[in-house]
Amino acid sequence: MESTQSHGAERSPAAQTAAAAGPGGRPAPDGPRFLTGRTALVTGAAGGIGRACAVALARAGAAVHVVDIAADAAKEVAAEIGGTCWVTDLADPDAVDALPADADIVVNNAGLQHIAPLQDFPPERFALIQRVMVEAPFRILRRTLPHMYAGGWGRIVNISSVHGLRASPYKSAYVVAKHALEGLSKTVALEGAEHGVTSNCVNPGYVRTPLVEDQIATQAVAHGIAESEVVEKVMLERTAIKRLIEPDEVAAAVLWFCSPHTGYITGASLPVDGGWTAH
Ligand code: NAD
Repeated sequence: MESTQSHGAERSPAAQTAAAAGPGGRPAPDGPRFLTGRTALVTGAAGGIGRACAVALARAGAAVHVVDIAADAAKEVAAEIGGTCWVTDLADPDAVDALPADADIVVNNAGLQHIAPLQDFPPERFALIQRVMVEAPFRILRRTLPHMYAGGWGRIVNISSVHGLRASPYKSAYVVAKHALEGLSKTVALEGAEHGVTSNCVNPGYVRTPLVEDQIATQAVAHGIAESEVVEKVMLERTAIKRLIEPDEVAAAVLWFCSPHTGYITGASLPVDGGWTAH
């Protein structure tokens, strides 16, 4: 499948300022628009956490490549923030390799879930999850790192999960993919350090997004409980703070990793998990 590109109908004031600063523009060291002159690429940006990240980065002044397979929603987000829309299936290596290489910031966010005991887990679903959540981030980084190295600055934020740090039953492909993403992030942190590039993970617990809402029915079957009990008994069982996380709270952590005062933080994994991994 090909990548198709379209621009938002109108460039927002945020994007206009970013464009005016030009590729050589330097962001103000502080202030709300500290990413002016930077370009960000966000995968899975049509909804959920990815959309929140794209909006937050655009508000901070970045020009944003909005990448997603969901064409209509991705175009809406791009139009809203004055970004560029790339309708791309991240499971297709050729399509991934056609994405732009000019990003100073990459947020590897797109993901999907499948819940089944290991003996019933469909191998093709396992392979798809690795392609979208491990191979695509690898391919995107190998293409964008030369641009970051040339500019002496780059920020990579990988949306991992508590499942990058801990396992849960019935999520083998997802847990494997997130642990692999952690390894990729740390390797890039070591390679990118001398070029001014940091690479970090954000590790949310359960965030209020379609990905989680879609899980409630399957989790109920897998655990043999009612759907009404899934949030409290499965999703929030291990968190000290008994509520779901909002996408904006994850985006705030992503933005922080791109901010002027976090250049020494690399190879890190930041739990945004209400205390889940404190156990
Ligand atoms: P979501 O389902 O709301 O959004 C995921 C986005 O990825 C969608 O817009 C979808 O179209 C896109 N996508 C999926 N497959 C794709 C493909 N093949 N090509 C291109 N785009 C594709 O999910 P979300 O909850 O916002 O999750 C975003 C990330 O956050 C994922 O990596 C997920 O693992 C991670 N995460 C989510 C939670 C949570 O509780 N929601 C918790 C921890 C980590």
